Amino acid sequence: MKYCFFCGESYPDKTEMFARGTYNCCPNCNNTMKKGITLIGYTEKPTFENQGPISKIVSGDREFLAYPTSEYVTFSEDVAKNVFTDEMFENIKKANESNGFVLIPDERIRELKNTYKQIKNPKSESDKQEA
Ligand SMILES: [Zn+2]
Repeated sequence: MKYCFFCGESYPDKTEMFARGTYNCCPNCNNTMKKGITLIGYTEKPTFENQGPISKIVSGDREFLAYPTSEYVTFSEDVAKNVFTDEMFENIKKANESNGFVLIPDERIRELKNTYKQIKNPKSESDKQEA
């Protein structure tokens, strides 16, 4: 079986997976992420044993490794424009175009998820209704 790092769903081995950094992304999450600007939450410490970093972040004079938490949100450009300042929006848009995602601190992503309308993963939505 293959697992999607982002939604936790398992898939048969033959399923084509998509990469976000070195992390497996399932076709459903990939479709959602492609629809807009995708923000992936990170912490500066691994979230489980032997976790590999998704990226190195340089922020001012600080340099650290970022470990994804599996939390993500995908916003339309219109929503992202409301969330961020113009300058940040331009940077985020560019980073999203080149990498397919943008890393942001995990506590911020939880706040954004609760505040702004996101592009939903249709599969995880139906899972929620059943639960
Ligand atoms: Zn997934």
